[in-house]
Amino acid sequence: MSDSLAVGLTCIECGREHALGYRLACEGCGGLLELRYDIATLRARGPAMLDGRGLWRYAPVLPIADRAHRITLGEGQTPLLECPRLARELGVRALALKFEGANPTGTVKDRSSTTAVAAALQFGFRAISVVSSGNAGSSIAAYAARAGLRALVFAYARTAAPKLLHMAATTPDLVLYEGVYDDLITLWDQLVDERWFFDGGASRNAYKHEGKKTLAYEIAEQSGWQVPDVVVAPVAVGETFIATARGFREMAEAGWIARAPRMVAAQAARANAVVCALRAGGAIAPLKIGYTVAEGLAAGDPGRKGAWTLRLLRESAGEAGDADDEAILAMQARLARVEGVWAGPTGVAALAVLARLLEERTLDPAQRFCVIVTETGLKTDAAAPSREARAFDLESLRALVKERLGSMQMGGARRAPQAPHAPGRE
Ligand SMILES: *Cc1c(COP(=O)(O)O)cnc(C)c1O
Ligand SMILES: [Zn+2]
Repeated sequence: MSDSLAVGLTCIECGREHALGYRLACEGCGGLLELRYDIATLRARGPAMLDGRGLWRYAPVLPIADRAHRITLGEGQTPLLECPRLARELGVRALALKFEGANPTGTVKDRSSTTAVAAALQFGFRAISVVSSGNAGSSIAAYAARAGLRALVFAYARTAAPKLLHMAATTPDLVLYEGVYDDLITLWDQLVDERWFFDGGASRNAYKHEGKKTLAYEIAEQSGWQVPDVVVAPVAVGETFIATARGFREMAEAGWIARAPRMVAAQAARANAVVCALRAGGAIAPLKIGYTVAEGLAAGDPGRKGAWTLRLLRESAGEAGDADDEAILAMQARLARVEGVWAGPTGVAALAVLARLLEERTLDPAQRFCVIVTETGLKTDAAAPSREARAFDLESLRALVKERLGSMQMGGARRAPQAPHAPGRE
């Protein structure tokens, strides 16, 4: 694996440069920091410098210098699935899904958990903490266990049962909080500054954030460096969106791709502060929110990363849209039936938003789209279908198969039901 080309931290507000280190804000203005890389070397060596498999293949553009700190559970290298049938249904020229449900804990969070835990080791921390609606907690807890770190996880009490089970299994320090994410995050953020633990949160930490940038690198590499025209990414606080947009911008600067795709931000209708601000033309007004089936998007106040998301959207003539719970659940079922991809509600929210923006003619169907589907459906706990079971004998079994499949065109010769079985012949 190659070495890291990270050279420093730059303030996104005033541009002030800082040396690499565990720093969550600009020393001058308090603004958010982003990692900066040696672009000249990226340009000179090109994608041929990439080496190895999975997320750490992109180590040159990640901020972890020591290979021993690069903790892995096999994250990254998720499939980019061409979806011709769904593309036809939606009336678009091409549609690919980046299926993040294939990550070790079933969500996109594994990309940032691996760099968070690696950075915690890099900076000598023994513990990490996070406030989560479910996915981040379950991912951070798993990676912390793998790294031998303590993980103090605060999780949304309404989170789906499989997520709760997973968190309880991977950390002894799981605490459920009352209310929604916004109710605890501001308090918790103050404890981050007291340095009890490494910041595993999404609001400030540039090192954690950086892992999600690999989404852009993978989409580009899997597309043969011919990136799609439009990439749709979900936004809770904006970490995934910003990281992906930055990854494309970095590759364009290094000459690895001709231009960055247009970015579309997707939110849940019940947590749509960024969409509202983009439409209204002003700053973000935090929302008081309740429950949405897209649990991972339930942030009413996306904070400073929300503002950064908005800025990126405005600078790049991006687009934003939202989808309500009903549309999200309908898309979840549709995706499973039409393409065989079983994603959770949070995971399909971006796809539901794409369908809506196409319907409203806000997006041009002649373009090639890529949607980031951020979680597996296997961590969902909606009521299971009927468990009514039947017993069969050969007769009734054959009758059922005939009833269900009798009209289907057969690929091979169908064996006559009466044909006697010749013993010892197969
Ligand atoms: C956390 C999460 C997101 C996006 O959250 P950001 O904080 O905006 O990065 C999207 N989908 C899933 C499944 C998530 O868990
Ligand atoms: Zn600054």
